[in-house]
Amino acid sequence: MVIATTNPATGETLKTFQPAADTEVEIAIGRAYSRWKSYRTTDFTQRSTWMRASSDLLDTETADVARLMTTEMGKTVDAARAEISKCVRALNYYADHAEQLLADELVDAQSVGADRAYARYEPLGPTLAVMPWNFPLWQVIRFAAPALMAANVVLLKHASNVPQTAMYLEDLFRRGGFPDGCFQTLLITSAQVESVLRDPRIAAATLTGSELAGRSVAAICGDEVKRTVLELGGSDPFVVMPSAELDRAVDAAVTSRVQNNGQTCIAAKRFIVHTDVYDAFTNAFVTKMRALRVGDPLNSDTQVGPLATEQNRLDVDALVTDAIERGAQVLCGGGLPDGRGWFYPPTVLANITPQMRVYAEEAFGPVAAVYRVRDIDEAIEVANATPFGLGSNAWTTAASEQKRFIHELEAGQVFINGMTGSYNELPFGGTKRSGYGRELSGHGIREFCNLKTVWIG
Ligand code: NDP
Repeated sequence: MVIATTNPATGETLKTFQPAADTEVEIAIGRAYSRWKSYRTTDFTQRSTWMRASSDLLDTETADVARLMTTEMGKTVDAARAEISKCVRALNYYADHAEQLLADELVDAQSVGADRAYARYEPLGPTLAVMPWNFPLWQVIRFAAPALMAANVVLLKHASNVPQTAMYLEDLFRRGGFPDGCFQTLLITSAQVESVLRDPRIAAATLTGSELAGRSVAAICGDEVKRTVLELGGSDPFVVMPSAELDRAVDAAVTSRVQNNGQTCIAAKRFIVHTDVYDAFTNAFVTKMRALRVGDPLNSDTQVGPLATEQNRLDVDALVTDAIERGAQVLCGGGLPDGRGWFYPPTVLANITPQMRVYAEEAFGPVAAVYRVRDIDEAIEVANATPFGLGSNAWTTAASEQKRFIHELEAGQVFINGMTGSYNELPFGGTKRSGYGRELSGHGIREFCNLKTVWIG
């Protein structure tokens, strides 16, 4: 893939970049490694100061950065602003809490025959982050904020369609005060990732993206015995039971399915509705999906912008076409619209069968699949009938049903009567083919630490 800024609303390529030469990558790794040796001796107070300064800069630059993100990957400018404000909060969260989250863990010294014994968290070293375009700032920040506060240094290989956002990030942390080499953006292709991962100075890697990319990075790191965190795709279930507050459930269903133009890993994608409320839910859902304003993402009235890449739109359309050919019912949307830009209409499909690709694959666009189920057993069975296990959502006010969803949904997170989201205070990640490891909260910052046992006699 060419490294370029191409406006998804017009299809116009605005700027292209040469991938970094291997010698430049070598220099960057060397810089990261030597910087890490001194950076790891800095204290939390110093790192917090740099982190807060970066956060303040980002906050004041919101308008320009939002416009840049919208131009590079098509999210609405309001969504871009919301993403920036979430990043500002995450930077401050780790500036405020890292020290406490990484505090030594004391054990009862007597029971291990020591005068003193504890476990301490130490940084691992230079870490490569391979990141996707869908939340071009947030995906990076949610890794980089804890990583930098834990005294690791970061090399970023961002998606090839968001190079200017990637370069902005390096610039942001540098202006925030982080010493040269703490955060570097490598403008490299995915084919160049392997040699970075195999470099002995690189300690670990994190990847957010597709299963294919995750498998490749994990296989190389497995071969090198290096730690990885993988945040991969999802096809989250959204279960609606008869006791649900239907209006709230419908609103959350629409928001979840179309936010970020339908390109969110933890968005609800499969809507599994009890037969008693199926018609009421589906009618209201389709009415709202049909009424959404699709258009120029820079216009603040727009609710759904274009898909980020031409290929992504083709992939989404192929899933929809396959479902239609195999008998799915189109309740709204479907099909490629005329005109320039990579727009796709909000689409709702019903009568889905296991033979259709959309039954098992992730629809990374504003496409919802609705399923009618007769009871909670069937709801859980359909919800779990996916190779993915990222987020999950259930709407019911019955305590016994809530308990079953919490226990039985195979996912990294379950949200009851509220939209799935990510929060600094809560761990984020998946199970099954959605990956492993956790980001955010204390779990996220500890992923890239060496937990060293200390025993003093
Ligand atoms: P990709 O996996 O193609 O791209 C993600 C990143 O991985 C990019 O930087 C890409 O670089 C790089 N990459 C791609 N192939 C390889 C490879 N073989 N080796 C090393 N790096 C590679 O995903 P998409 O861009 O298509 O993003 C959409 C997917 O990501 C969806 O499946 C979605 O669900 C998932 N995702 C998961 C999230 C989560 O938090 N769990 C969040 C967001 C998305 P380049 O651009 O140069 O190809």
